[in-house]
Amino acid sequence: MIFDEEINQTIRYIKPSGIRKFFDIAATRKGVVSLGVGEPDFITPWHIREAAIHAIEKGRTFYTGNKGLPVLQEAICAYYKRRFHIDYAPKENVIVTVGGSEGIDVVLRALCKPGDEIILPTPAYVAYAAIIEMAGAKVVEIELKEEEQFKLTPEALKNALSEKTKAVILNFPGNPTGGIMTREDYAKIVPIIKESGIFAVTDEIYAELTYEGKHVSIAEFEEIKDRVVIINGFSKAYSMTGYRVGYILGHKDLIAMFNKIHQYTIMCASTPSQYAAIEAAYNGDDDIEEMFQSFKQRRNYIVRELNRIGLKTHMPQGAFYVFPSIKCTGMSSQDFCETLLEEENLALVPGDAFGQAGEGYVRISYAYSLEEIKIAIEKLEHFLKVHS
Ligand code: PMP
Repeated sequence: MIFDEEINQTIRYIKPSGIRKFFDIAATRKGVVSLGVGEPDFITPWHIREAAIHAIEKGRTFYTGNKGLPVLQEAICAYYKRRFHIDYAPKENVIVTVGGSEGIDVVLRALCKPGDEIILPTPAYVAYAAIIEMAGAKVVEIELKEEEQFKLTPEALKNALSEKTKAVILNFPGNPTGGIMTREDYAKIVPIIKESGIFAVTDEIYAELTYEGKHVSIAEFEEIKDRVVIINGFSKAYSMTGYRVGYILGHKDLIAMFNKIHQYTIMCASTPSQYAAIEAAYNGDDDIEEMFQSFKQRRNYIVRELNRIGLKTHMPQGAFYVFPSIKCTGMSSQDFCETLLEEENLALVPGDAFGQAGEGYVRISYAYSLEEIKIAIEKLEHFLKVHS
């Protein structure tokens, strides 16, 4: 590439997203069935769309304050209080961001300095490692294990700590594994976080998609609340991916620092989208429930079917992904996905796109209709027969 030498060398050596790479190949083919993309297939509920339309009609087309519309900040705090019993102050503890994605970027850039280590339980969502590296810090991976339901254990966390550790990333329910942490699971790691004085950056974007019991946030543990930063957003719970609204919750002094990056790079999230988010936060509980039931039905179906056709699949407790083992085929996850695409026109994501710990697995999103899921299962069943 002609600019390789001139470009920032850290950026040069960041690997492009393994998900995108795979879908660029899929896009060159006709008639591909894809269970690859991590976004809900529902059109945003009408009353939420209407709130965005109404905002535009009323001429609410200007910048908002950097940290977001005060009513939205209040709505977010009220929502965290109502659903997760955690207190945050609208003026001090919230920044409205452009999706959870901007939240991840701002928080990690503000926390990381060159030489810092960030503990990343993997398989993990692809953005974290790339952003940590772009910030000049080092990723220290912990392998989450299927036999431990992809949970973060105190032993693994302890082993990964060093004097350079700045933070641990938590993403439960998790992409790509669907793993969750219960209150008891967190109770085992909270003392380690407290004692070591690191930050916990918790990406709770799939909180509403917790199938057994209720989502627990690590911020509920008062003894470390000041060192917890929550990233969340409206994309997954309300099927609002295209609106691009997310938020960061945390200690006021951290929020002030995060806001420096946010105000210079972004200014504010889209104004009509913020109005849509206000409607979602106050009046969207029934929509969450409806989509939740639909995802749960799909989850139960796909896990049963995958196990029936011979792909050992852990029952995910949250999010909308299953992470079956493909070790029985003897193929690498890249080979499996490339051959599957070639022979069956079915696109899944190779597990190693989420870190080395994902090798031997594939990620299947069930944020697709039952009809599409059924077709995909038929294709997989045929593929396994040919390759067994
Ligand atoms: N975190 C996780 C774990 C995700 O899976 C995603 C989207 N795939 C995001 C954050 C970002 O979502 P958004 O920017 O749409 O809020």
